[in-house]
Amino acid sequence: MIPNGVTRLVVLFDESAAPRSLEQLLGALGLSLEGDRRVRVHQSGVVTCRTESTPDPALLRQLSAREGVRKIVQLPPGQYLIDCVNPDADRTVTLPNGARIGGGQPVVIAGPCSVESVEQVCRIAATVKDAGALALRGGAFKPRTSPYSFGGLGEAGLRALTAARDLTGLPVVTEVLDTTELDLVASHADVVQIGSRNMFNFPLLYKAGRHDAGKPVLLKRGFGATVDEFLEAAEYIQLGRLAAGHESPGLILCERGIRTFEQSTRFTLDVGAIPILKDRSGLPVIADPSHPAGLRKYVLPLAAAAIASGADGLLVEVHFDPTHAWCDGDQSLNMEEFAALVDRINRIAAITP
Ligand code: PEP
Ligand code: MN
Repeated sequence: MIPNGVTRLVVLFDESAAPRSLEQLLGALGLSLEGDRRVRVHQSGVVTCRTESTPDPALLRQLSAREGVRKIVQLPPGQYLIDCVNPDADRTVTLPNGARIGGGQPVVIAGPCSVESVEQVCRIAATVKDAGALALRGGAFKPRTSPYSFGGLGEAGLRALTAARDLTGLPVVTEVLDTTELDLVASHADVVQIGSRNMFNFPLLYKAGRHDAGKPVLLKRGFGATVDEFLEAAEYIQLGRLAAGHESPGLILCERGIRTFEQSTRFTLDVGAIPILKDRSGLPVIADPSHPAGLRKYVLPLAAAAIASGADGLLVEVHFDPTHAWCDGDQSLNMEEFAALVDRINRIAAITP
């Protein structure tokens, strides 16, 4: 949480502008480019600062008009970029097939935990589409706790996802693990996923937002992250998007369960965070019922709870043969269970305001 009384500023400037003019601009605000812990220089012409005194609006207007300055955004305490840059911007995310996340109807994104082969992902994609999924998930780069576990097919996995999209028309949601793989993943994905373990990977967050392709990002909550930390992570992505000139927020938040003292589920799905995140960010908020459930029989009740609490969609792991899945088989639904889940959540959504 940002302490009361602290104003945050974002200055966008032309990188070709002399550092001297930026120094002067900051100087006018009582800040300094060098040796000032309140000032932070990000990539591609973005500087963020904190000041204890609220800057005079006339001074800010004057400074914004200076040569080399593209924009100065002032964030009052407790507000985020999304509220200050273009508060009327559409915060929903529309996928290439027209599915709109945050538009009122829950959108189900389904598929295997990890891509195992072209045949596997194409078969799953076709079946989840028939059952009502509007997007395909599948990991080609997998964050695994153990270096001896299957780490994904990498680029071949991305190509398999593309084949499944060609076959079914389902947009592809897939994870990026590292900044060095952003170009590759963004060239195949319709939505770039940043997983729970990377929610604190700040350079990745910023660069995913700043990426020229402008693909929407699906950010999963770190399993040890508070709601405030989750929203600050989202702010890195927004900062990147602002720097790149992407107009829309292009961001989906995903509650996927947190670590608590409770051991009987894999993680504790924080259902209460769903309405809070929606309230505080105005962004689409979806839930992943698979990773907190850990076991497939608990996936449906968690999905139902998430939709009843206002989630804009679900990210669900599905496999035609869960017992032989290469990753997370215990929590993967089979095809019949998935069809039952879609049916149930549609009925809940119909009576959820
Ligand atoms: C996933 O969705 O594939 C995944 C790895 O989930 P999480 O990052 O939430 O653990
Ligand atoms: Mn998984």
